[in-house]
Amino acid sequence: MTKQKFEIVGGNYTSTADIPKDDDLFYHCLDCDGIIPSVPNDNVGCDCGNVFIDKDYWRLVVADLSKMEVVKVSV
Ligand SMILES: [Zn+2]
Repeated sequence: MTKQKFEIVGGNYTSTADIPKDDDLFYHCLDCDGIIPSVPNDNVGCDCGNVFIDKDYWRLVVADLSKMEVVKVSV
């Protein structure tokens, strides 16, 4: 398994409406250290459930915004 490096794009959001999404952006949960794509092919959430994306409604749900950050793969 290759280890990817990520760089932080943003954090400390106050509303999910402010959180960007793009093909190369990922959401990093600081609680369980899970990383999920911001534009998933299916419903996806991190292991602890803090960050969840409901693809059918293009809805991002974050239980604790202070414990997530947006990252992208650094090249
Ligand atoms: Zn989590």
